[in-house]
Amino acid sequence: TLPKVAWIGLGIMGSPMSENLIKAGYQVTGFTLEQEKLDRLSAAGGTAAGSIAEAVRDADVIVTMVPASPQVEAIAYGPDGILENAKSGALLIDMSSITPQTSVDLAKAAKDKGVRVLDAPVSGGEAGAIEAVLSIMVGGEQADFDAAKPLLEALGKTIVLCGPHGSGQTVKAANQLIVAVNIQACAEAVVFLEKSGVDLKAALDVLNGGLAGSTVLTRKKDNFLARDFKPGFRIDLHHKDMGIVTDAARNVGAALPVGAVVAQLVASLRTQGDGGLDHSALLRAVERLSGA
Ligand code: NAD
Repeated sequence: TLPKVAWIGLGIMGSPMSENLIKAGYQVTGFTLEQEKLDRLSAAGGTAAGSIAEAVRDADVIVTMVPASPQVEAIAYGPDGILENAKSGALLIDMSSITPQTSVDLAKAAKDKGVRVLDAPVSGGEAGAIEAVLSIMVGGEQADFDAAKPLLEALGKTIVLCGPHGSGQTVKAANQLIVAVNIQACAEAVVFLEKSGVDLKAALDVLNGGLAGSTVLTRKKDNFLARDFKPGFRIDLHHKDMGIVTDAARNVGAALPVGAVVAQLVASLRTQGDGGLDHSALLRAVERLSGA
């Protein structure tokens, strides 16, 4: 029989991901802060819990998908948290994108409670979550990875154990660096092409067929063309991730000269009130710099 699942955090990613588990036959009990997301889970065949403690009490596997390190710490620790209320032997799979150190510390604290932990952040965006084709970068022990693999296969397509606890987060930090720089490059090209009077749609189509092509260009093309910046992936979250990769790189002495500039542009969007927009809104930052 399939393990019983508790799912904490039913946002843009957590809702469709947990629904994919339900479709795969898993019994899912969820908890999140918004009542309408709990109603959505019930409508999809899951069970809405009134608290984290209630959600995790009978669970064999607990999945967390919340914004950042402070939220992971808030839901993991303390008398009402996951570690205090989970069964001994339960497997906690944290799929949030957080600092590698938070994952390492969580694994250590959980071990004392008999709870096994994997960090398993994802890439592929909302579309990847809905279609269950996410890339899942995992940190932790081989045996726990093997135990989690069938469940992760209901959520994603590329599922790789990257190393010990925290390694999944390190790889995700690199992912976020590449994505931000790629969006920035596309945004600069878009402004350049438009100012040059070239048909933008035609240009992006042909660029996407060559070496300049990318998943970013494929997925964000329509956002650029329509100036549609509904998230998707919020600038606020990418700001968090640029902070994670900047700190982690500094700790190991890796230089991120271009990443540092893009991190500043992401930060500038936030201070101008655009933190709630999709990260394709880096186009706005380039337009402002270009007087467009
Ligand atoms: P979101 O803000 O849409 O959802 C977060 C959810 O966490 C919300 O439903 C909220 O209720 C819940 N939550 C927060 N604090 C909680 C608490 N104390 N107890 C219970 N629930 C709590 O965010 P999202 O876009 O789904 O992103 C989630 C994580 O996935 C982030 O770490 C993000 O960086 C990462 N991620 C997002 C995307 C994307 O495209 N959106 C892609 C890959 C990775």
